[in-house]
Parts: sequence; C-alpha cells; structure tokens
Amino acid sequence: MSDLLIKCLSYSQAVRIYVANTKDIINEIGDRLNYFPSALAAMGRVLTVGAMIGSTLKGNESVTVKVEGNGPIGLIMVDANPKGEVRAYSQNPHCHFENPDTHKLDVRNTVGNRGFISVIKDLKLKEPFIGTVPIISGEIAEDFAYYFNISEQIPSAVSLGVLVDEDSRAIHAGGFMVQLLPNASEEVIEKLEEKIKQLPPMSKLLSQGNTIEQIAKLIGDETTTIIETLPLEFKCSCSKERFARGILSLGAEEIKQMIEEDKEARTICHFCGNEYYFPQNELNTILESASKKRK
Ligand SMILES: [Zn+2]
Repeated sequence: MSDLLIKCLSYSQAVRIYVANTKDIINEIGDRLNYFPSALAAMGRVLTVGAMIGSTLKGNESVTVKVEGNGPIGLIMVDANPKGEVRAYSQNPHCHFENPDTHKLDVRNTVGNRGFISVIKDLKLKEPFIGTVPIISGEIAEDFAYYFNISEQIPSAVSLGVLVDEDSRAIHAGGFMVQLLPNASEEVIEKLEEKIKQLPPMSKLLSQGNTIEQIAKLIGDETTTIIETLPLEFKCSCSKERFARGILSLGAEEIKQMIEEDKEARTICHFCGNEYYFPQNELNTILESASKKRK
C-alpha cells in the first residue's frame, strides 16, 4: 500500500477534512539519510502536515514549510505541491531523544520548544505568501493548528502521528487536518470539537488498523464525502544541472581555487542524499562560463 491523502467535506459542507498516510515516504527519506528514531518522528510529522498544506494549493503552486526550533535537529524543511510530491530536509537527522519513564520518542526535545514555524506559499504571483508564528509546543501538530488560527485565520485542528520501531523505521504514520469553512454554525463547531476531543491520538488510530477513510468518518458526521484522493510520493527536484548552476554562482575565483585544490567536486543533495560528481573537465567548462559572465 502506498501513501495517500483524501480531502473530504462534512457537516453539510461546513467542514473540510484532510487525512493522509505517509509511512512509505517517511521511510524512504529515513533510509536515504539515515535518520535516528526521534528525528524521523519529528521530520515525519512536519512532512505529513506539509503534504496536507501542499494539497490545498492548485496547479503549479507549491509550498515550503520550515520548523526552526532550538532543539538538536535544527531546521526541518518540507517542500510539497498539489500533485502530491513531497520532500524533506533536516539539518541534523542523527539525533534521538526518548522519555526516560515512558520510553516514548520525545519529539519536543528533538525539535525544541522555542523558535519559529514558517509557511511559504509560492502562488505564482510576484511575491510568495509567507506566514510565520512562534513555536508554542514543539510537538508540531499544535504548532500548525496555532499557525492556521493566527496567521491564516482559519479555525483548524491538526493531529499528527509517527510510530517508529527500534530499527528507526516508521510502522504507522499519518495525520489529519480539519478546517472550518465560513458557513460553519455554532452547532457544527460544538459537535466537531466534541468529536475531536473524544478521538484517540493519530498514531493510535492508525495502529488500531483504521484506514484514512475510516478516520475521516470518525471526525465527520453522516454527510462526510470524499471529494479527492491524491497519491503522495517522495520526489526531489534536484539535478546535476541545478548543482552546476550552484557551482557557477560561486564565481570564477572560487571555482579556479576548487580546481587547483581538489581537481574535482562532489555535491550531495540534502533532501534525497543523491551525490553528483564533477570531474576536472566539467569544472573547467563551468569555469569558462563563469569567466565569460564576469566580462
Ligand atoms: Zn535531491
């Protein structure tokens, strides 16, 4: 089974519900960059909410979600789009914390409880839309609910769960995001709040064997209908040409020095771990373009 996201309308079209499972993508990234367990859980939660935000966009739009906490994982960054393509980066995937009493993964200590989250939407306009709020919890779901309520002024609830085994592989992973539409009545709000309050955490819902459709029905009422099903996939937009442009932008002096000292260059994409190799003759070609540019 591969990762999927569903979008639903419920409460007579007054509430939008997004539910996703993201286990395969999280494991692919975890394997590529050798994530430790609590770092995998932290990145996985950000990736899941990022994928859901990406699915709210249209056409060629895209989103970058950044969590910059004061914990050892450092910056966590996720790129997503409405085609369901997602990738993630963590500054330090090799950190791990667990609660000494419960032995549960400690995401808050991995991410930190101070810092900022930002949502940068490229809506193909002149300027991107950027929303930033302080981190209020470090558990990610609460932080993004706060972001939607404060920055986008959309009353929202977010739940995220990544269950990781001892070999640092996700066994279950996913999340939901619930947003009130402007026509939601007080009665609907009360009913929905009550339902969400009664729901077990996301990781429990998944480990109990619930599908994303079943989870949507648990959140919604009898009018719940799926309006879109979106397959999610790990996709990195890096390429050798992009890295070549990166080297070019260093300027002739620096490229010359690189050739003299190392005779070659190896660049690694921090999103997918792919390595790109530039032998001396290719660096010479880049140097030529850089020298021409300067003139
Ligand atoms: Zn890449």
